[in-house]
Amino acid sequence: MDDQGLCRILRQLDGQSYRAYKQLAGHYRFPDFDLEIAHVQGDPFAAPSRVSIWVPHEVAQFPDDWQQTPLRRVALADALHRQVYQIAQQVQQRRGSGKSGRLMVAAVSQAILQRTAVQIHKGFIELRLGVGLPAFGRRIAGNEAIALFTQDIPQLVAQALIYAVLPHGELLHHLETVEDAATLRQQLRQQGLVAFIANGAILPRRSGVDERPLQGQAVAFQAPAGLAVTLETPHSGAISGMGIPAGITLIVGGGYHGKSTVLRAIEQGVYDHIPGDGRERVVTDAAAVKIRAEDGRSVVGVNISPFINNLPQGISTEQFSTPNASGSTSQAAGIIEAIEAGAQVLLIDEDTAATNFMIRDRNMQALIAKDKEPITPFVDKVRQLYDDHGISTILVMGGSGDYFRVADTVIALDSYQPQVVTEQARIIAQANAARQAEGGEQFGTLTPRYIDLSGLQQHPRGNKVKVRDVDAVVIGQESIDLRAVEQLIEPNQVRAIAQAINELQRRGVANQCPLPELLDRLMAQISEQGMDSISPFPMSDLAMFRRFELAAAINRLRQLRIQP
Ligand code: ADP
Ligand code: MG
Repeated sequence: MDDQGLCRILRQLDGQSYRAYKQLAGHYRFPDFDLEIAHVQGDPFAAPSRVSIWVPHEVAQFPDDWQQTPLRRVALADALHRQVYQIAQQVQQRRGSGKSGRLMVAAVSQAILQRTAVQIHKGFIELRLGVGLPAFGRRIAGNEAIALFTQDIPQLVAQALIYAVLPHGELLHHLETVEDAATLRQQLRQQGLVAFIANGAILPRRSGVDERPLQGQAVAFQAPAGLAVTLETPHSGAISGMGIPAGITLIVGGGYHGKSTVLRAIEQGVYDHIPGDGRERVVTDAAAVKIRAEDGRSVVGVNISPFINNLPQGISTEQFSTPNASGSTSQAAGIIEAIEAGAQVLLIDEDTAATNFMIRDRNMQALIAKDKEPITPFVDKVRQLYDDHGISTILVMGGSGDYFRVADTVIALDSYQPQVVTEQARIIAQANAARQAEGGEQFGTLTPRYIDLSGLQQHPRGNKVKVRDVDAVVIGQESIDLRAVEQLIEPNQVRAIAQAINELQRRGVANQCPLPELLDRLMAQISEQGMDSISPFPMSDLAMFRRFELAAAINRLRQLRIQP
């Protein structure tokens, strides 16, 4: 059926009860695009109807060159998504009660991610959005619906998805920024680095709830002489900045001198950022994982014995489970789980770490004997983690010099300016009496876990998912607290993770293989079959996530069980 046919139906539907909209489900051929109404909302106040739009490349006319690699397609889709988001605010009109007339596009963050709302396919560009089908009260507003489909939506397509009307330079800059970042990140390992911060980067954000760059008084980043490196980019030539070498790196400095800000930028460097973000050229090893203490969380069957032993009442730490972890046990579990998922770099900030997990100083060692202290502090394990397993750590630590002895690199921040103070720190550490190392010879045993999701509620069409911003998700009856999973940046990612968990459960793959293999398989499925392969129907609000955040969500399931 064509758009004229759709208008005829809408005229007939005018004044009827909202339910009659259900017959709209189907495909329609418009002059410049195809449109599918995939699902019709139950009333004008319910979640909007699901609409997909396919614009053929012959109409959209983006240069072939912009679509040649998967990375370019993701970058172009991200740029178009942002256009659609903006233009939708302008063209949508109030066309009756509730959500009537709304054009709802998934919100995005400062990161460039693969998402389902806009996708670049072989023959066409696909846009998915929520549309509020118009009604006055519960009566269909036929003429408003006709205006929505023949004016608002074609206008949205014409203004946001057609090459000729878009700012070419800006779009190209978007693509090139992503390619530059990806190339910078690719060079890290061969250069022996785990992170890179370009000179001129703006790291501070506007506020704790606003991820845009701080304006006005922000001090641009400048690499200290001792860590200055130059990397190559395809579009911007040689870029100089600070390279953080593999190994153990300490970021020290007085309070409020910018330590946490640097670490947060490094955490986010696993993602590419939009032009103007300030962190476009801050890149981090893709397997870097932020770790923090999270008392109260659930832990299931994790071997935390490298860090914790001899708990009161003979509680096992080789298969440690608790519905209510302490600061130190949660941090120990977080590290072991990250390693299990494949982390190569750990990022830890004293602000969000458990003190007794991080340090145990000489005086405390003298007062409390080792056999009365279950915790082997991280300071005694961080070196072994690197020597035995090649896992680097970047640590913000302004409050204890005990880490000087184990650090390969010490960076001091003074009024947001980094300096290398590795040598001074080493001399100070040697001049003062050492604390007793308590970590033994090796890091300890890593035990693979076979996970079992059968404790989760099962629903034939997938458990219902409810996402509250980035900090919580409800899957069926299980609510997962994700506040401590700090490298999740978009609700779209959280929704996708919930779908991934549903998918793993649906396929009944639990207890077939160790968790890392399960993560491998799911991530491979997405890269081979696309993000739609994890959801029961094509969704408009999913974004790509990393295996580490998926693992973090699984590990926080209170219904999770472990197969021996
Ligand atoms: P620390 O962890 O050392 O205590 P923070 O990283 O929390 O310090 O930073 C303290 C304050 O300084 C924050 O409000 C932050 O936004 C601001 N800040 C950090 N880096 C810069 C910078 N380069 N320019 C301007 N302000 C900054
Ligand atoms: Mg801090």
